[in-house]
Amino acid sequence: MTFVAQDLVVSGLSVHYGGVRAVNSVSFTVGAGECVGIVGANGAGKTSTLKALMGLVPRHADTLRFGDHDLTRTKARDIVRCGIGYVPEGRHVFPGLTVEKNLLLGAYTLPWKTAVQQTMSEVFDLFPMLAEMRHRLAGALSGGQQQMLAVGRALMANPKLILLDEPSMGLSPKLIDDILTVLRRLSAAGHALLLVEQNAKLTFEATTTCLVMENGEVAMTGTSTTLRHDPRVRQIYLGL
Ligand code: ATP
Repeated sequence: MTFVAQDLVVSGLSVHYGGVRAVNSVSFTVGAGECVGIVGANGAGKTSTLKALMGLVPRHADTLRFGDHDLTRTKARDIVRCGIGYVPEGRHVFPGLTVEKNLLLGAYTLPWKTAVQQTMSEVFDLFPMLAEMRHRLAGALSGGQQQMLAVGRALMANPKLILLDEPSMGLSPKLIDDILTVLRRLSAAGHALLLVEQNAKLTFEATTTCLVMENGEVAMTGTSTTLRHDPRVRQIYLGL
């Protein structure tokens, strides 16, 4: 099998927590610059799939590659260095640190101070709001602003692919529209995206291809335009 540089290739990925089978032999790819979504109801295995890619939970896979990197042999702390950014569910910004310091924490893979300054100014170009609030404590930001900060922090490592776990969680419909704008901007800037969401509407709008997960397995795959009109997606969500 030949791999195009920067493609994410996943096959036969499984995650078990003791006796609980959270993810069962899941396979998919994310091409360079592509936007792929994973939707599914509570407990479908979406978060576990992302954590498995980042090496944060024990996993088994036949193939787990990003470009030339074999992620099954890469330690969690080195996966970011391969060019994969991760925006976890619940944002996890440091409330007692300023916006700027939170961003700097995402820059630990960058070798030079000048590279850090350059990347931070690119993040500020993408999110002018973060530049305005750079000296504010992250804990004083609204939920939507903290979500932008969490995305900005992931961008500080110059990722080619960004994994986003439920960026719309807890946000008002207006802020969910802002998230969609951010996702489109990231995509236009050339980043590949793997978006995990319970909000199927947002995901179908933001992505070109989607997987629908159910009970740890991929129940359906297709273009986002086709899946958004497929009544089976609703059935899977409602567990009918
Ligand atoms: P949600 O949208 O609620 O986050 P999800 O689709 O992301 O759901 P996961 O969080 O991956 O699903 O959970 C998949 C299954 O694994 C669920 O049955 C969940 O209860 C179980 N699970 C998740 N984390 C653990 C853990 N640390 N220990 C044991 N079981 C877990």
